[in-house]
Amino acid sequence: MEDLFQLDQHFSDEERLIRDSVRRFVHDAVEPIIMRANEEAKFPQELISEIASLGVLGMKLPEEYGGSNASAISYGLVCQELERGDSALRSFVSVQSSLCMYPIYSLGSEEQKSTWLSPMARGEKIGCFGLTEPDSGSDPASMKTTAHLAGDEWVLHGTKMWITNAPFADLAIIWAKTEQGIRGFIVETDRPGIETIETKHKFSLRASSTGEIVLNNCRIPKGNLLPGSEKGLGAALSCLSQARFGIAWGVMGAAQSCFDTALDYVKQRQQFSKPLASFQMIQRDLVDMYTEIEKAQCLSIELAKHMDAGSVTAEMISLAKMNNCREALQIARKARNLLGANGISLEYPVIRHMMNLESVFTYEGTDNIHHLIIGKYLTGIAAFN
Ligand SMILES: Cc1cc2nc3c(=O)[nH]c(=O)nc-3n(C[C@H](O)[C@H](O)[C@H](O)COP(=O)(O)OP(=O)(O)OC[C@H]3O[C@@H](n4cnc5c(N)ncnc54)[C@H](O)[C@@H]3O)c2cc1C
Repeated sequence: MEDLFQLDQHFSDEERLIRDSVRRFVHDAVEPIIMRANEEAKFPQELISEIASLGVLGMKLPEEYGGSNASAISYGLVCQELERGDSALRSFVSVQSSLCMYPIYSLGSEEQKSTWLSPMARGEKIGCFGLTEPDSGSDPASMKTTAHLAGDEWVLHGTKMWITNAPFADLAIIWAKTEQGIRGFIVETDRPGIETIETKHKFSLRASSTGEIVLNNCRIPKGNLLPGSEKGLGAALSCLSQARFGIAWGVMGAAQSCFDTALDYVKQRQQFSKPLASFQMIQRDLVDMYTEIEKAQCLSIELAKHMDAGSVTAEMISLAKMNNCREALQIARKARNLLGANGISLEYPVIRHMMNLESVFTYEGTDNIHHLIIGKYLTGIAAFN
């Protein structure tokens, strides 16, 4: 894609190097297999060790925990390149890094960090994040899963739904109601009383593994409570902010893939004895798509600068997640149209991205919920309930 605003100049040599190595990985290892993975509705687990060897799992964490103290821009670029391949890949890395390693790092005890983080960075242990329930989505405070202390153990009971990575995860960060409020727990998935069930019949994010987690009086040691989760639901939301940041960057990777495919297609495809690209209305669509990608990338770069400076706010992240998901979805739909009938074929990546982006638009805070967060910032009035 043309870099009209020379956004590359915002990135250091190291950041460009990381981006280019992930782009190469996606080109060489993801693109040849992703259509099949999507059709078979199977997460390509065989790629995990290669993803880990790229050094992207928990990359923002300190080296002692397997990370590389990477900048926010580096992490953003990794998300963008992975999602250029498929949102399933970026979702896998987001969940492992932002929703599992990050809570262990920021809310966990020293023992929890030293047990889990390095094996997770190496891709040897895989995590998932259980917040959503059958009756509790946008309103996580209404969760029904409970945890109570029985001697030296916590007993967890309830059901989590729509949990990315759950079917093959080694551990789950489970959010549950205790007498003191909502708390986070590390639950190993091989314990008695926990069962994960693969969610079937998804028409979006098919190459991502999603599952239900059933906790039937599952007992875990007292020490599996994340001590920093004493802040309650706010602790869970702080993890979501990390993941939403990656989404804001990631979706523009999918959008770029759609744009590049559409541009290439309309230059080749002839109708009325001329390439489609020579028609004014087609050019308008291309320009509109390109404009939104450039704008969204500027927003993401600004967001990353705030992230690294420690001045980022939840509202900034909401605005970027909301805008970039909405625009990426619009771009994918425009690209789908530009490809005509071919736009609905999995031979091209566009329809796959378009379907994936429907999930990404909904998870990690729906479009409406992000409007409400920013609406409260603007008016001072919470309109959630
Ligand atoms: C593929 C996939 C993977 C996921 N992975 C995970 C995961 O790993 N971990 C996890 O915990 N969750 C996960 N989720 C769940 C996701 O975060 C929830 O689906 C999301 O938070 C929305 O909740 P809901 O589906 O219950 O929708 P609801 O909350 O029921 O919302 C339905 C509609 O009502 C709107 N709405 C709700 N409340 C309001 C309001 N007050 N004002 C206006 N509109 C409102 C919403 O915007 C939405 O349009 C995943 C979801 C998907 C699809």
